[in-house]
Amino acid sequence: MGKSISLDIAALILLAILLVSCILRKMTSGTSNRIFLLIIITAMTATVFDITAVSLDNAHSSNMPALYVAHLGYLLTHYMSAPLHLIFVISLTDTWHKLRKNPILQIILVLPLAVMLVIFVANIGNKMLFSVENGYTRGPWFVFMYATTILYIFFDIVYIVLYRNFFSWEKMIAIGAVIPIGVAAMFIQMFIPSALLEMFGGAISTLIISIGIQRPEDQIDSFTRLGKFSAYVHDMKRTYYNHKHVTVIMLNISNFPTIQAMLGFDYATEVLKVVADKIREIDRRMRGSADLYYLDNCRFRVVFSGANQEKADRIASMLNHDLKHKTIINGFEVTLSPHIVIASCPDEIGDFKTLMSFGADFHKRHHYTGQVMRAGEIYNKNQLDIHNNIDAIIDRALENQSFQVYYQPIYSIPEGRFVSAEALIRLIDPQHGFISPELLITAAEQSGAIHKIGEFVFKKVCQFIASDEFDKLGLSYIEVNLSVAQMMNGDLPEMILSVMDEYNITPDKLNLEITETAAAEDQKVMTENLEKLVRAGLSFSLDDYGTGYSNIKRVIQLPLKIIKLDKSFVNENENPKMWIFLKNTVKMLKDMNMEIVVEGVETQEMLDAFSDLQCDFIQGYFFSKPIPKKDFVAFIANANKAS
Ligand code: C2E
Ligand code: MG
Ligand code: MG
Repeated sequence: MGKSISLDIAALILLAILLVSCILRKMTSGTSNRIFLLIIITAMTATVFDITAVSLDNAHSSNMPALYVAHLGYLLTHYMSAPLHLIFVISLTDTWHKLRKNPILQIILVLPLAVMLVIFVANIGNKMLFSVENGYTRGPWFVFMYATTILYIFFDIVYIVLYRNFFSWEKMIAIGAVIPIGVAAMFIQMFIPSALLEMFGGAISTLIISIGIQRPEDQIDSFTRLGKFSAYVHDMKRTYYNHKHVTVIMLNISNFPTIQAMLGFDYATEVLKVVADKIREIDRRMRGSADLYYLDNCRFRVVFSGANQEKADRIASMLNHDLKHKTIINGFEVTLSPHIVIASCPDEIGDFKTLMSFGADFHKRHHYTGQVMRAGEIYNKNQLDIHNNIDAIIDRALENQSFQVYYQPIYSIPEGRFVSAEALIRLIDPQHGFISPELLITAAEQSGAIHKIGEFVFKKVCQFIASDEFDKLGLSYIEVNLSVAQMMNGDLPEMILSVMDEYNITPDKLNLEITETAAAEDQKVMTENLEKLVRAGLSFSLDDYGTGYSNIKRVIQLPLKIIKLDKSFVNENENPKMWIFLKNTVKMLKDMNMEIVVEGVETQEMLDAFSDLQCDFIQGYFFSKPIPKKDFVAFIANANKAS
């Protein structure tokens, strides 16, 4: 009785469906996708050879060359499935560069295949593997096929175990399933050669991989058809873990929230698609070797292997050129603000966490210049180290008491004397030297250490206010900065009120500064905090007014006493249009009964100009920089005595 080919036909149909589905789901680019396609095609070829060979056998064909070719084709292509699976696993771990550097490992992995290929060739003369002369029979060397296949399965297991961190449980099972299925099919067929199970078993394992691993919905964003945030996270983690060198081109379009707010969701989605198309087109022009991702909030990434500066510059400048000029979307003209930064990893950005936090907001921390930047220009090594070690730096500073609170005097124009001051943190770290408050505060906000700093500053200020020394200065109050993260923390009012209680401070001696970004955040907790503190008698200032997105409605709604005009806004007072704007802003705020502090006043001319506008308070280097408490006490005692 001949062998039945029905399982082979089933396998062929299954594989054909898989192939079509991969093509329809556009899973044809990227190394692992391509290897997966190769696995399917090889398995289909093996099945076709098997069907041919079995049919010839069943028909007792005497066409020896045809019989030989059919059996050889089957054995060879079928044999390839184990090495191909290993190649697939290696590509999932993205460790080619390691393999390239390790000739011994290369030899170990290639040797079994090379031996088998020699055996295949030798079989033409010696027929030790198989022969077809008296019907298909296996020769004594057939055992090498099994032995080397088992070796490849072993290599597979080693790789999966070594890189288990890269795979979730489901993925491990999906890649690993091929092993028991393959082994079972192989054993059954070894002892019952008439059971044509191997091809069918192979097709089933390929299907499991397709369902468990090669899922585009896990990896591809449906709007932009670029890699998803989760894929970027996975790939970049793997890159750092493998110490692989890559270049990341980061594109953050900073005015996307405004476009979305003004033109609506559908239009904003169109913007994403247009940007994604541009990126794809540029990648194609550069021979399409980069991995492309869309993260969220109009943040895109182009990643390619190696540190090819010239290539990175070309891609980045093409992107910048194409995006920064007016783009027509759905017939509307829109001007995008593409912030582009090239980062060579791990040289410029040494670890995954920093890559992510840097990428999240470099466009906010660095003024938009319209030029492509290098990560190293924005973030020097020292700053990066500070970011990476911020928790340790802050703990060390709190322990060694190396944080200091400086005070910058605030002058009242109507009273003609200094009436208050702003408390500002200073830190000289033994390892990193002076750390600018901006860097310190942003890093601390990201790490969560800001709450410790906030409490420290607040205590120091209360301690100062409670002292006799402060009493004698005749100052009305001290302004303390609260960062956005502090305002979002539900425990903030309790901390503030209990410290005030501890030092027996009345609320009129304090003023709390919040920034415009905090005010724009329509957070329930933040509003509740504000209301609680206002009910307890505390007053608030809005800091840095004129920067960021001024949400005037929120400004009107919030219980604010003072508005602090930001120095960047104030510094432009020589621009006639800006001056008109400043004049009217001041008038509007005064009409709303707000008090106004002008920040960053550095010259007599500026002082005169803002005095003429009837602003209430002046703060700036013209009077004094922020200075240590001791100097501040001497400064005020001296200045106010003179006035
Ligand atoms: P800010 O609250 O707007 O503080 C005013 C900043 O402007 C201070 O920078 C001050 O030194 C600087 N400044 C004042 N007058 C002039 C001037 O005439 N010319 C120029 N060029 N600059 C002037 P500093 O101390 O570097 O602080 C930067 C920012 O860091 C602060 O901006 C504030 O947002 C934050 N910060 C500082 N200390 C604290 C703190 O204790 N807690 C929190 N949450 N943030 C703080
Ligand atoms: Mg301030
Ligand atoms: Mg300010």
